[in-house]
Amino acid sequence: MSTTRKRIAVIGLGTAGSMAAWRLASRGADVVGYEQFGTSHDRSAHAGESRIFRTAYFEDQDYAPLIRSAKALWRQLEAETGTELLTLTGNLMLGEASAEMANVSESIDKFGVDAVAIPLEEARKRWPQHPYREGDVVVLDREGGYLRPELAVLKAARRAEALGAELRTYTPVEGIEVKADGVWVTAGGHSERYDHAVVTPGPWAGKLFPELAMLIEARKVVSAWFAGREPGAFDPAHFPCFVRATPREFYGLPAMAGNGLKLGLSGAVNRPVPDPDALDRTVPLDEVKAFRALVAESFPGLYPDPIRVSAYMEGYTRDGHGIVGRLGGEERITAVTGLSGHGFKLSPALGEIAADYALTGSSENTLALLNPDRFLATPTITENP
Ligand SMILES: Cc1cc2nc3c(=O)[nH]c(=O)nc-3n(C[C@H](O)[C@H](O)[C@H](O)COP(=O)(O)OP(=O)(O)OC[C@H]3O[C@@H](n4cnc5c(N)ncnc54)[C@H](O)[C@@H]3O)c2cc1C
Repeated sequence: MSTTRKRIAVIGLGTAGSMAAWRLASRGADVVGYEQFGTSHDRSAHAGESRIFRTAYFEDQDYAPLIRSAKALWRQLEAETGTELLTLTGNLMLGEASAEMANVSESIDKFGVDAVAIPLEEARKRWPQHPYREGDVVVLDREGGYLRPELAVLKAARRAEALGAELRTYTPVEGIEVKADGVWVTAGGHSERYDHAVVTPGPWAGKLFPELAMLIEARKVVSAWFAGREPGAFDPAHFPCFVRATPREFYGLPAMAGNGLKLGLSGAVNRPVPDPDALDRTVPLDEVKAFRALVAESFPGLYPDPIRVSAYMEGYTRDGHGIVGRLGGEERITAVTGLSGHGFKLSPALGEIAADYALTGSSENTLALLNPDRFLATPTITENP
């Protein structure tokens, strides 16, 4: 009996798309990927040198199994490409007792995450670079560290190609139509038929699917880099990645290759981008000054003027969890999008889930909190998580 390989289109070869293409090609699918820019670029969500990988999760404790399978796949991609992508420095979670810190503790208890609470006095000695506040809880996630996003996307895409995928760069998809005989994808005025489409357009989701425009908001996200006053004090060997949850949320990654400590701000500071094709990548001075004030107040070991600022873009849902699964119940379209500022670490596992849906019609690996159907009752963006 002959078996026919499924022909799958992957639309958007950024973070989720490159991983989906790799997982699909690994599993024997006939993959064609479409990307409007080149393989790995700096115009949306997967650039800026580093991304935090953490396993003690404050967004929701249920992420732990997904993070575990993502970690195994990161190691697999490293082995298949001979490239270091994930470096474990540990990740510090800092903040007063709060719902977020409770999620961190629960993920440790429930899923046996390798993390430990550090007494404040010990934290002050081990990482004097941080300002601690009375009442701070400090948790060291020993499995935390950082990923190299540009390289990871590039390597996943190249690995997919080596496994037989055809990747069409500088080829924006203009339309996707489900017909009786399959999913038709149009690019450059030419339409092709597929058995299934995996849709991974990041912040452009609403442009491809008007119904997603109501669920996903594109936002500009700024990263800023700062030089340390003492040589080496913020290098990975001395300074783990961190997320501070209170009194305001921000995060940081150690200085890589002399580039300076990287900081990012979370929440409403990340301004909406009405049209992702028209992202203004300049960083206004009020935003530069907000970073400067934060560093002046929080990190005496850093010079407060950033040595570099860069703007990127991400798609956010209103509950801060991604959209992963069948779109509108349509069996031949799987969406992985709206990853809401924390999707990079999860991306190989999300690529595997997309491959599950495309090849078998369902996935045992997904999480209920990512199900697109949760928004059907109230499909509007109302707040900035
Ligand atoms: C500054 C910043 C810091 C972050 N920090 C972290 C972190 O520390 N840890 C973490 O886990 N996550 C982090 N994130 C989140 C994470 O990077 C994102 O969730 C993830 O990269 C989103 O992946 P994506 O595939 O949805 O989007 P993208 O990676 O942007 O990919 C979408 C791709 O689709 C393409 N595309 C869109 N429309 C079309 C079309 N019509 N035709 C063809 N191609 C198209 C785009 O060009 C793009 O390449 C951060 C995000 C930002 C912006």
